[in-house]
Parts: sequence; structure tokens; C-alpha cells
Amino acid sequence: MTTSQVRRRTIIFALMNETPKSLDDVTVTPVLRECLKCNYSAVTDQTACPQCGRKMATASSIRGRGIFLIVVGLFLVAFMGGIALFVSNLLADAMKDPTSAKRITDEAATFFAIYLIFGVVIAFGLRSVVIGTWQVIFGKRNKVLIYGMWAILFLIIIAVGFFYGVSK
Ligand SMILES: [Zn+2]
Repeated sequence: MTTSQVRRRTIIFALMNETPKSLDDVTVTPVLRECLKCNYSAVTDQTACPQCGRKMATASSIRGRGIFLIVVGLFLVAFMGGIALFVSNLLADAMKDPTSAKRITDEAATFFAIYLIFGVVIAFGLRSVVIGTWQVIFGKRNKVLIYGMWAILFLIIIAVGFFYGVSK
């Protein structure tokens, strides 16, 4: 090793000894972090999930996702709601004419399916709004809400299908 190499190393080691001190000054205070992949959560300054390695989310990033969920949810509700209103107006107009009224009644199952899709998309949008609002307020995810609302949505679809089948 040449003299200049030794000198360079000495300087580098000196700098490295300095580094921990300055890093200590900017140490991140441990905050609640959640892994959105495997649901691990802990109060920690680690940014990667110790279970699966994914970058963990903090309260502020979960709030950001919450805002996104609210925007997407409101868009779905407004968009599908608008289409549903539009179709309803068309149907109401068509029902005034006896010939087309009969055709609509014959195609009741089709219209039922269409409205079921409108309903599911609107319910999905409302679910996003509720979950997003929770995340914006509390800065964390609510698993009961996230999975519970899937269950409710699923049960509603089954119940609607069942009562439609019974009413025929
Ligand atoms: Zn994880």
C-alpha cells in the first residue's frame, strides 16, 4: 500500500468514525408502522417489514392512501349513480308506452342484473369512502372494517339474489 493510499484510508476511517455521531442526531423517532402486505405492525424506526421485507407504511402514508380511497370511492358512487339515474329515466319513459313496457317486463331479469351491477359498484365505492375516511382520521388501517365490509357486501349480494329468486 502506498503512502497516499494509507493517508486516504486514514481520512476515510476518521470520517466513518464521525458518521455515527451525525446519524444519531437525525435518528428517526419510532412511530407506528404497518406492513400493508403481511399486516405486521409495530412502533419502530425500521422502515422495512421484519417479516416480509416490504416497505412499511406510516400514519401519514396511510392517510395519503385514505384520501386516494375517498376520491376513488366518490368517483365510483357518482359515476355509477349517474348512469343508474340515466338508465332509470330511460326506463321510466319507455314504461309509458305499453309495447315497450311489455318488453321491459319480459326482460326484467336482465334489468335486475344491470341494477345489481350498479348496486355492487356503488357499494364498493361507499366501502372505499368509509375505509378511506377511517384512515384519514386515525392514520391507520382498520382490518375489521376492511374485511367486514367485504363480508357485508357479499351477504347483501347473496340476499338480493335469494329474494329475487323467491319473488319469481
Ligand atoms: Zn410484511
